[in-house]
Amino acid sequence: MTFRDFKLDPLLEEGLNAMGFEQPTPIQEKAIPIILSGSDLIACAQTGTGKTAAFILPVLNNIVKNPGAGVNTMILAPTRELAMQIDQQIEGFSYFTNSSSIAIYGGGDGQDYMQQKRALKRGADIIIATPGRLISLLGSKEINLSGVKHLILDEADRMLDMGFFDDIMKIISHLPRNRQTLLFSATMPSNIRKLAGSIMKDYEEVSISISKPAEGILQKAYMTFDNQKEPLLIEVLKNVDYQTVIVFASTKEKVKNLTRSLQKNKVKVKDFHSDLDQSQREKIMQEFKARNLRVLIGTDILSRGIDVEGIDLVVNFDVPPDPEDYVHRIGRTARASKTGTAITFINQKDVPRFRQIEKLIERELEKENPPDFIGKGPEYQQSRKRDYERGGNRNSGNSPKRKSNSEGKRRKPSRRKNSGQRDS
Ligand code: AMP
Repeated sequence: MTFRDFKLDPLLEEGLNAMGFEQPTPIQEKAIPIILSGSDLIACAQTGTGKTAAFILPVLNNIVKNPGAGVNTMILAPTRELAMQIDQQIEGFSYFTNSSSIAIYGGGDGQDYMQQKRALKRGADIIIATPGRLISLLGSKEINLSGVKHLILDEADRMLDMGFFDDIMKIISHLPRNRQTLLFSATMPSNIRKLAGSIMKDYEEVSISISKPAEGILQKAYMTFDNQKEPLLIEVLKNVDYQTVIVFASTKEKVKNLTRSLQKNKVKVKDFHSDLDQSQREKIMQEFKARNLRVLIGTDILSRGIDVEGIDLVVNFDVPPDPEDYVHRIGRTARASKTGTAITFINQKDVPRFRQIEKLIERELEKENPPDFIGKGPEYQQSRKRDYERGGNRNSGNSPKRKSNSEGKRRKPSRRKNSGQRDS
């Protein structure tokens, strides 16, 4: 199949040629005809699959064929970086057309705000916005969304993880009911389906199966009680081969505590989570990319989108909530056919979840025990029986039977929640 088969406007075909796009990717092959037909759509596809062009091309085609005044398309994206990337792609494809786009995002200074406000007043065919910034500009009544024909939610799962549900619904209340809605998401948890149910009626669905972890990743797993995880991480970090390391933990509180504790142990580490503002995040990321920072500890906010080459080690301090998140997280290493290591710490409570991961990656990993001085971890096999029989034994992952951590301290068992704790 080629892009010609979609019968797009020749001006767009010129743009595609100029950008060197010849063959559509699988998500483009599946999604473009559906979007061109006018149907609503849920598409499950990650960054890197060509999802952006999958929604931009048919929408641009509609704009070129039916030019009109006012905002034609509203694209909501979770972060400033993604909004900018989408805008750049639109600029490329629409180079030979008369259509225009504006990116509206937070994180800048007052000058940026005023610039965006002026741009909105001038108007554009396509607005790409982060929800928070759009809401504050909507208040200034500079923007009329009553003619919007297409609404696109990009990385919808991440927007919900970031707590944008109410903002999204508020923005939608400014849009006409008679519109096409396209929802793109890397994962399909139940809250995404709920969102889809509340903003779309009949929709088509396409899914690009999640790619398996790259061959070059050495995947390892340790069975640990919770209070063994930190000494084990410190032990793992003694390996000087790991020069660039990302550690994922489940909540931002855990991220902050672990960072403080490792800093006390003289590990060069910083934390990365949604409590940091955009400029703080960018500064840390620059330091990490420049190799001035060895270890970055973060929530799942780190697992998507960041493009840092040459990460030697990814540690899952906690088993990720969704199997797909495991693939996203460990995909930060071994990029561009390099090799890398991914290590996951599994407590007893997380055994069923790790089994789901093994099902997805179609591989059973060997479960190692922490070194002797840390103490033996829980059993992997037994734990399944216990987990299922005991149901909600909330302390099952926290109580070492033999000994506590290397400092001889016992930590208060903490109850672990699932997706409610996520930070993106
Ligand atoms: P995305 O998943 O939208 O972030 O796209 C990932 C990258 O693939 C971007 O750099 C796109 O420009 C590129 N890309 C998307 N579709 C195609 C295609 N059909 N042919 C060549 N490159 C593509």
